[in-house]
Amino acid sequence: MIPLTEAQTRWQTKVRQFCLEKVEPTVIERDKAQIFDRSLVKAVLGLGLTRIYWPTIYGGLGEEFMNYAVALKELAKYDDGLAITVSVCVGLCCEPLARFGTETQKERFLKPLVSGEAIGAFALTEKEAGTDASGVQTKAERTGDEYILNGEKVYITNAGEADVYIVFAMTRPEDGAKGMSAFIVTKDMVGFTVGPRDSMMGLHTSACGSLRFNNVRVPAANLLGREGDGFKIAMTTLDSSRIGVAAQATGLAEAALEKSVAYTKERVQFGKPLSKFQNTQFQLAEMAIQVEAANLMLYNVAQDKTAGRPYTVSASMAKKFCSDVAMEVTTKAVQLFGGYGYCEEYPVARLMRNAKVTQIYEGTNEAQQMVVGGALLR
Ligand SMILES: Cc1cc2nc3c(=O)[nH]c(=O)nc-3n(C[C@H](O)[C@H](O)[C@H](O)COP(=O)(O)OP(=O)(O)OC[C@H]3O[C@@H](n4cnc5c(N)ncnc54)[C@H](O)[C@@H]3O)c2cc1C
Repeated sequence: MIPLTEAQTRWQTKVRQFCLEKVEPTVIERDKAQIFDRSLVKAVLGLGLTRIYWPTIYGGLGEEFMNYAVALKELAKYDDGLAITVSVCVGLCCEPLARFGTETQKERFLKPLVSGEAIGAFALTEKEAGTDASGVQTKAERTGDEYILNGEKVYITNAGEADVYIVFAMTRPEDGAKGMSAFIVTKDMVGFTVGPRDSMMGLHTSACGSLRFNNVRVPAANLLGREGDGFKIAMTTLDSSRIGVAAQATGLAEAALEKSVAYTKERVQFGKPLSKFQNTQFQLAEMAIQVEAANLMLYNVAQDKTAGRPYTVSASMAKKFCSDVAMEVTTKAVQLFGGYGYCEEYPVARLMRNAKVTQIYEGTNEAQQMVVGGALLR
């Protein structure tokens, strides 16, 4: 294992202590009741995770990206619903504002997100536009100094909880992906409504739902980048946010391994702890190897991003690899726990349910294979 730096250890300890005190004691209850606990989210944002790698001029701490990955991974180990809430703010909302926003937009929208005062969201997916994001039907028509937005988005994390939404809409539908633009929409805009919360397999402590835009008047000053830049902005943003998914997935796998080691030492069958059976040892060894490899993949892409090297491919590789590891390792953990693993009073069932979506969102793992395969054959 590559040793953590002093700063990374500080972040890990800070998040862990917070989680042991405030997150772990209530996670089963919040998950069962499907509660998005705004005060807990505010407390998590208060830890400073949203500030870690942004420049100090925007209120960030100017630290390296890997510090953020370590902190996010630690949060995911205790409550991945909280981790996705943070990850969307940082990776999907701050990222496009920081990269493509004007100084005025950064002052107005990025700074409150970085400080943790505001919550962010990213709205690309629609009923008919999932993996094929160029199929977006939401339209934005320019009239004078405004764009009029009409359409609907589905499966949007932080829906109804966010203050700022990055929304993708067609300004020239006839041009396909090249006719897509990105807009900064705020929760108070007239005609913008949020549907009921989606009922999901996992991530019950986060919020996910649909958005509707009915003649929403968005000031032209809220266009992010130029007209037609939307698809590029969406894809560039996802490259970076996928590292967050890799961190979450690695956290889930690590948590499943740790819980399994502890449980198999305690659970006695045939007069001895499960850990004394060779099959248990082999399963745990396999899980540990996978977790180690996931950490290396995560480290690899974080280093690419920090060094300013292209990371589209390494991000797709890490997202796919780490999420597959999360699914495999959490499934093994459920098996090692036996019937207790299937029971929601024990943590591994939740870890497994939460792991599944890491193979699906921010581009399915098949979409990541398209990125990697496409790069090989270019
Ligand atoms: C909990 C959750 C949170 C989410 N949060 C957000 C969010 O905040 N913002 C947002 O914009 N979206 C969000 N999404 C949407 C998510 O990114 C999409 O669900 C995902 O991109 C897949 O799109 P789809 O569901 O339409 O599946 P589809 O595109 O219909 O895919 C279905 C299956 O077909 C496969 N497939 C599709 N095309 C191909 C192909 N060419 N070759 C091979 N296989 C293919 C896919 O890999 C998948 O297995 C979220 C989803 C979930 C479940």
